Amino acid sequence: MDDLLLDGSAEARRLTALSRMEVLDTPEEPAFNEISSTMARSLRAPVAQVSLVDTSRQWAKSHFGPGPREVPRKESFCADVVRRGQIVELADVRADARFVNSPWRTTDPPLLHYAGAPIMTPDGAVGTVCIYGLKPRQLTMAERAVLSGFASLARRLLDGRRDNKEKHRQLQFPLSVLDASPAGILVLDERGIILLTNAAFDRIFGYSPGELINEPLERLLPDALRETHVSLRAQFVAAPETRRMGAGRELLGRKKDGTFIPIEVGLNPMYATEGLRIVASVIDISDRVAAAEAERQAQRALRRYADELSAKNVELDQFAYLTSHDLQAPLRTISNASRMLLEDYLDRLDQPAIRALELQSAAAERMGHLTTQVFEHSRLGRDPACTLVDVRTTVTDVLEDLTATIEASGARIEVGAMPKVNARPVELRMVFQNLIGNAIKFRRPDVPPVVRVTAHPEAPDKRRWRFAVVDNGIGIRAEHFDRIFELFQRLHAKGAFGGLGVGLAHCKKIVATHNGRIWVESTPGKGSTFHFTIGDVSS
Ligand code: ADP
Repeated sequence: MDDLLLDGSAEARRLTALSRMEVLDTPEEPAFNEISSTMARSLRAPVAQVSLVDTSRQWAKSHFGPGPREVPRKESFCADVVRRGQIVELADVRADARFVNSPWRTTDPPLLHYAGAPIMTPDGAVGTVCIYGLKPRQLTMAERAVLSGFASLARRLLDGRRDNKEKHRQLQFPLSVLDASPAGILVLDERGIILLTNAAFDRIFGYSPGELINEPLERLLPDALRETHVSLRAQFVAAPETRRMGAGRELLGRKKDGTFIPIEVGLNPMYATEGLRIVASVIDISDRVAAAEAERQAQRALRRYADELSAKNVELDQFAYLTSHDLQAPLRTISNASRMLLEDYLDRLDQPAIRALELQSAAAERMGHLTTQVFEHSRLGRDPACTLVDVRTTVTDVLEDLTATIEASGARIEVGAMPKVNARPVELRMVFQNLIGNAIKFRRPDVPPVVRVTAHPEAPDKRRWRFAVVDNGIGIRAEHFDRIFELFQRLHAKGAFGGLGVGLAHCKKIVATHNGRIWVESTPGKGSTFHFTIGDVSS
């Protein structure tokens, strides 16, 4: 009926408002039912409705009492209210010719009284709250006010409902963000039924999107874990808290193809209106596990290599020990023979022969020294017995041995606080002897040596110490820093400074067998600092 319709644009606005509310043909909602029943009671009406009017019909969002829930728009009293946008009361509907065929009038028993208030939005009325009565009647002013009150209540409910929908829509946003997450995300209900998975989760487990929805979580677990997991989940539901699983131990997930993957899982409880939800984030740690395994293998290979190397070193030492020992006797024979010739046959030898024999004797003697050094070197570290050594005493003894050199060179030696360390005493003494000896020996002409000996704990528990011997001597160029620790390596011509070039090689081996290392820092023309560490050899 034309007189129940609004003009085109007003109607269009009104319908847009209605459709935005997403309220048409939706399931019953208790709050609206309550409005209808309360309205019926408070206004003493047998029938009450919250009704919405769309293009062709009046439709009850909630309904109390007998009577139709839906009527054509042209037979609808409410359509009149919507068109007018104000309360409409038909004291006796029979008096209104427009509604002769209205189902309200023809229902049994017929409903003869109608009063409806519009549910107003800024875009016009979307529906009404209304009451129907069996007898003609006129509402008091107060009753009309009550009816209006219910209309605004219904309006607020519809608005609230839309806000909730909006919130829900906003929730969709994080859901799509979840898909961008590189971590697998899973939402479960408290029975362990999967409600949601993100793309990464599906990928990790080899499922297609949505395939896991409504499946029990147990599907993703190895058989052995299923039962335990059911009880673990029950525990989680009983005392929900954020927690991490799989860190530090291997937790396995079962993929669709039946293979297993190592995973790490974080659990979070989330309280939804429908009950507890468990949100799990899952990371595939295959790479991490593979890297750890590779690291373990590398460590094993390294250990094997170190063992082989130390076995080779022992072999080499043994070889050096035997050859240097066995060389001593023939060397002695050569040396004795040349000396004997020089002593007993001197008058029968000409000058070149004497010179040759002298050279031979000197060379044999020198070679004797060298083999002795090789012999000594090979024996270093052989005796494993370590004792607690008071380093101060060791250094004092060394300085005593060097008294003549110290006095001759005018050296000043400063010794800092020294610890007690676990070491092989004779070897440790050899280290200080070589380093302090060198510090005095390799002095600059006309600069009296100043040598400082210091010790610092390396580890807080003082089980590892770093010693230093600092001098103000000639210094060493950086390119020689490594070379000088090799056997028989010297940087100067024989005449300039005496020595065989074994002292530092001895030091290096001694320090290594004390779980330490030795190195030098130096500036040519200014001085050198030799550092070495001693670890706890007993451990
Ligand atoms: P040696 O002292 O018998 O020559 P070392 O093994 O003790 O043998 O030293 C090797 C070389 O390192 C020395 O020949 C010397 O050139 C260099 N060197 C060692 N200590 C010092 C130092 N304190 N200052 C300068 N050069 C040094």
